[in-house]
Amino acid sequence: KRVDVPVAVHGIDPELVDKRASDVVRTLKQAGFEAYVVGGAVRDLLLGLRPKDFDVATNATPEQVKGLFRRAFIIGKRFRIVHVVYGRGREHEVIEVSTFRAFLDNAAAEQVSGNEKTSKAQLAGMHHAVDASGRVLRDNVWGPQDEDATRRDFTVNAMYYDPETQVVVDFHKGIEDAKKKILRMIGDPATRYREDPVRIIRAVRFAAKLSQLGFKLDPKTSRPLVESEHLLNDVPQSRLFDEMLKLLQTGHSIASIAQLKELGLAKGIYPLLDIVVERADHTFVNAALMDTDRRVGEGKTVAPSFLLACVLWQDVKTGWEQRMQRQQPFPALQDAIDDVFDKRIGDVSGRGKLAADMREIWVMQPRFDKRSGSTPYGMVAHLRFRAGFDFLRLRADVGEVDEHIAEWWQEFQQADDARRDDMMEQAR
Ligand code: ATP
Ligand code: MG
Repeated sequence: KRVDVPVAVHGIDPELVDKRASDVVRTLKQAGFEAYVVGGAVRDLLLGLRPKDFDVATNATPEQVKGLFRRAFIIGKRFRIVHVVYGRGREHEVIEVSTFRAFLDNAAAEQVSGNEKTSKAQLAGMHHAVDASGRVLRDNVWGPQDEDATRRDFTVNAMYYDPETQVVVDFHKGIEDAKKKILRMIGDPATRYREDPVRIIRAVRFAAKLSQLGFKLDPKTSRPLVESEHLLNDVPQSRLFDEMLKLLQTGHSIASIAQLKELGLAKGIYPLLDIVVERADHTFVNAALMDTDRRVGEGKTVAPSFLLACVLWQDVKTGWEQRMQRQQPFPALQDAIDDVFDKRIGDVSGRGKLAADMREIWVMQPRFDKRSGSTPYGMVAHLRFRAGFDFLRLRADVGEVDEHIAEWWQEFQQADDARRDDMMEQAR
């Protein structure tokens, strides 16, 4: 049931709404379409947080949306959405516009799945299909707004906001749940986890993010989590890897790990995540996680390569020491790194850049010991010096490296050439 909630009730501060998002909504409405800010942005606005990005939902098709904006691009094959781009370069901003999509329950979906000869007209009226285990296969069929709301995950993630009228459109008592600080899955939670097991990880992520505000998962939403966990075995590794990074890199990694433990999901979501959870209390990994959360909180960027290099550093060190009994230090390190990639992240082998960045961070570490000759100049000129140095800094913080070495590099990178030569002289 649709409820239009006025500003007097929801109290969203219009100042927190991105001007570009309002502009997209206004343009669509002036062209005669329905359009709203939707999803996580409305949730965050309602909680008084400044959303990190704004999504817009509309009844216009991607082609119709594209026609209304100067710089708009249709992206995605399965989920066709439009990116409306404002500004250029580093300052550019993307508003994601998606067309209202339909929701189908399993029974209705079974009727349409497997029927290859469906006509275009039928397709247009068709909803999403699920496979034998209940997973959503077809989720890109346009539908009315109320179905668009119902296909979303949590009640607080399924609201629509019109910046012009300042009305929130709420189909699932999201406002009430936000007031009560409850994270509630729309529909039957076990069924929704079967449709898309990644919702299990999303439940953990939102529970962690909103725990600071006092939110709790509704018991009916959290109860089937453990029994549903095995469904993640059928989710592509690349999607799990991405979801793991969202758990670890959206500023709430420590809280997410606490939630995983509390909910009985400490193991079995994804091999690399198991290791992160296991090592979350180790001094070095803990420092890396806290550092990541702090950086995100300050609006700084974080690289997945840095955090993963921290998490797997102890494997690299152990392998390196063993190999040095038979090999020279440098090839021993390179081979130890290969071993770690084979053993720990073989399942993300498609990510060449990530692995290359991790390797560079590790390979730089022994070179920080050399503070003479051409090495220091080569180091500071290195494209990835900053990451390598931050890694060294963290090692010094936990006592793995002498503090004065980290300080030496801190000063060296900022010093002029005369001072640098001085420093190298003294370090000898
Ligand atoms: P964040 O602030 O972390 O980006 P978000 O709520 O915006 O959180 P997104 O992953 O950006 O999360 O997704 C946007 C919206 O799309 C969600 O708020 C939700 O309504 C819907 N959504 C995304 N993923 C799913 C899913 N797997 N199942 C159902 N709904 C989903
Ligand atoms: Mg989002």
